[in-house]
Amino acid sequence: MPTYSFASASTSLPEAVTKAVSKDIVEWRQSKQSVLELPFTGDEFRDILIRTEQDLRSLLGFADHFHVLFLQGGASTQFALLPMNLLGPLERAAYVETGYWSQRAKNEARPWCRVSTAACGDGLSLPPPEDWQIAGDAAYCHYTTNESADGLQFHTMPDTGDVPLIADVTGDFLSHPIPVERYGLIYASGQKSLGAVGLTVVIIRDDLLRLARTGTPAPLDYRRQVAARSKVNTPPTLAVLIANHMLRWTLEQGGVETMACRNRRKAEMLYAMMDGDFYRCPCAVPDRSLISVRFHLPDARSEADFLQEAQANGLLHLKGHPAVGGLRAALYNTVTEDAVAALTAFMADFRSRRG
Ligand SMILES: *Cc1c(COP(=O)(O)O)cnc(C)c1O
Repeated sequence: MPTYSFASASTSLPEAVTKAVSKDIVEWRQSKQSVLELPFTGDEFRDILIRTEQDLRSLLGFADHFHVLFLQGGASTQFALLPMNLLGPLERAAYVETGYWSQRAKNEARPWCRVSTAACGDGLSLPPPEDWQIAGDAAYCHYTTNESADGLQFHTMPDTGDVPLIADVTGDFLSHPIPVERYGLIYASGQKSLGAVGLTVVIIRDDLLRLARTGTPAPLDYRRQVAARSKVNTPPTLAVLIANHMLRWTLEQGGVETMACRNRRKAEMLYAMMDGDFYRCPCAVPDRSLISVRFHLPDARSEADFLQEAQANGLLHLKGHPAVGGLRAALYNTVTEDAVAALTAFMADFRSRRG
């Protein structure tokens, strides 16, 4: 019986990628060394880093005045690095609050700046970008493109005028094309789209590199990391290599446009199960996430049974985020249409026995 993971915290990996990574761990390209043994200061790792950046640029297509950083620390570390790096002479930053992750981003910014709320959602729908009220003296406006816990996703691109727009794109990075050039900065943890934990990708516009507060530690300073090509200190070398294989895979599959089509089909299949009153998605239809599909059953007992039976049927990691409860299926790029078909078949069967 095949098993399928719908984990939100980390993506599953295509077999081609795990095989390629395993091979590199045993021996990196006839070098008689494991890729784990390559010094980050050497030519081999420099090439890996260059190719990874090139592949990311070919997938997303953005101009040269945007820099790519490969950092440690995860998206959660960026929450504090944003105000440390981007305030310049200003004191205020604007935050759009739409759920679990955007709230955490906002709370981490509080010690560093005056935080104002540009818009606030109700947890089940998103405030439309045209209604956001951004303070004129805000150094930037931050939002979360995909609220992975709450099951919400922005499907339109906000326009914040002269205030640089910053986005936590961890939840839906590479799942569809994104107009990078309309942002000041975007960032994503690697484990949800780029294969492995340990790597955080930051894409930042050149003019935002001069604003760090004095005393910002060197590894946490975007400008110094750009100048050092992400090597102020040791970058997460293995996670970068894995990201490189994942980016290659994504390119070979047809790129982010292909991913977007597939992801839409997968989400439609799953949301179609929620038409009746057994499976229920509480999120407003226009704001439902195509990647983080949240749903509930009529009662806690059925949800517990569902999880247990799903697991016995090879359908893994469907438990909802603790902050919102219920169930959740993450449909990252690597989750196949077959996996979603297996899940919906199981859901139909479970309902027919319980509904
Ligand atoms: C998972 C997730 C994070 C947290 O990532 P860490 O690597 O654990 O810091 C942040 N934002 C969003 C939208 C996420 O989905």
